[in-house]
Amino acid sequence: MNDLRELYQEFILDHYKKPRNYHAMPDATAHADGYNPLCGDKVKVHLKVADGIVTDVAFEGSGCAISTASASTMTEALKGKPLAEVRALFEAFHEMLTSPEPTVDPASLGKLAVFGGVREFPVRVKCATLAWHTMKAALDNSNNPVSTE
Ligand code: ZN
Repeated sequence: MNDLRELYQEFILDHYKKPRNYHAMPDATAHADGYNPLCGDKVKVHLKVADGIVTDVAFEGSGCAISTASASTMTEALKGKPLAEVRALFEAFHEMLTSPEPTVDPASLGKLAVFGGVREFPVRVKCATLAWHTMKAALDNSNNPVSTE
């Protein structure tokens, strides 16, 4: 268990210090802003969708280690995926963190499974899901900023 916790912390810190795909995207086809007032996390997600595929994804913003690492990991996980798969990943990730009895096989989530440990800290669940909710809002073309409250 200690090993797992260490691995988890290392992973989160690595993505926090060196966030992947952290940049603006002037030619994005969709954007959305997200805010988690409980923690103060702010994230802006950019997506480029062509022929039903997320061809590029990036984020900007500032937040705690978990929200930043989650956004960073999400961008890596979604790039190149068909929209149906992106939505399925959202559902699986969300269920892993919020369902009282998740039935998601963590192995199906790849690196994203690291965030399963956040379940133990309910206050942090919103940090971990913020980027995902924001990404979904961008896909749904919602113009309303996302708040986790
Ligand atoms: Zn946070």
